[in-house]
Amino acid sequence: MTEDTIIELKGLTKKFGDNIVLDHIDAKINRSEVITLIGPSGTGKSTLIRNLNMLDVPTSGSVLFQNQDLTKLKDKQLDAVREKMGMVFQSFNLFPHLSVERNITLAPTKLGLWSESEARDKALALLEKVGLAEKIAAFPKSLSGGQAQRVAIARALAMNPDVMLFDEPTSALDPEMVGEVLKVMQALAADGMTMVVVTHEMGFAKNVADRVWFLDQGKIAEDAKPDQFFSHPQNPRAQEFLSKLL
Ligand code: ADP
Ligand code: MG
Repeated sequence: MTEDTIIELKGLTKKFGDNIVLDHIDAKINRSEVITLIGPSGTGKSTLIRNLNMLDVPTSGSVLFQNQDLTKLKDKQLDAVREKMGMVFQSFNLFPHLSVERNITLAPTKLGLWSESEARDKALALLEKVGLAEKIAAFPKSLSGGQAQRVAIARALAMNPDVMLFDEPTSALDPEMVGEVLKVMQALAADGMTMVVVTHEMGFAKNVADRVWFLDQGKIAEDAKPDQFFSHPQNPRAQEFLSKLL
């Protein structure tokens, strides 16, 4: 692992029964890099992202995060690591019975990262970052999908993560709300956040990602800079995948 490497996959393998979803993947992610994971449905994009923070436990191989092999850690130690890896899903998973403020402050105050007296200001600062300061007292059901997803991002950022993992963060949104979420993600990337993003938003991959990973048959079949990937894909299945996009 070089100084710049934040995540390293060594022989990462994940099987569900006989189904080999990830097949001896070796890869490195550098600090502040933005990786987009692209590929047809069922190629293992969610599985890969879930193996990065041990939400799914690898069948074999290892995941090194900041030089720690996560596959060797006990549950308690893993909890601490997961705090450093924020995760945002397709469904926003906000707590419906809690205000936006409490959704954001709950974990950092419980874990002692924030005192109760400073929590509101900290939540407000994060909400300003995602353009939603005026929603601090709102409840999730009053938010649009795009707003809810931006709150979910703010909530993940509250833990001061070193990496943010996104699994199709805009797939459940009405088209007119996709842009506001991607804009927040683009700003995070510009701030230097390390990000792994499963997405079908090719514009985001082209304009924001440092590298594209195209998954096929359990492997990262292509690992390329977006310019290269979108203009001259090498892998035949990547070529086919791209040819089907508008
Ligand atoms: P993608 O996110 O690229 O659409 P997934 O990672 O969700 O793909 O799924 C990859 C493969 O792994 C699929 O064949 C899927 O059926 C299988 N799979 C995913 N999760 C499970 C699970 N919990 N149990 C059994 N099979 C699973
Ligand atoms: Mg998926």
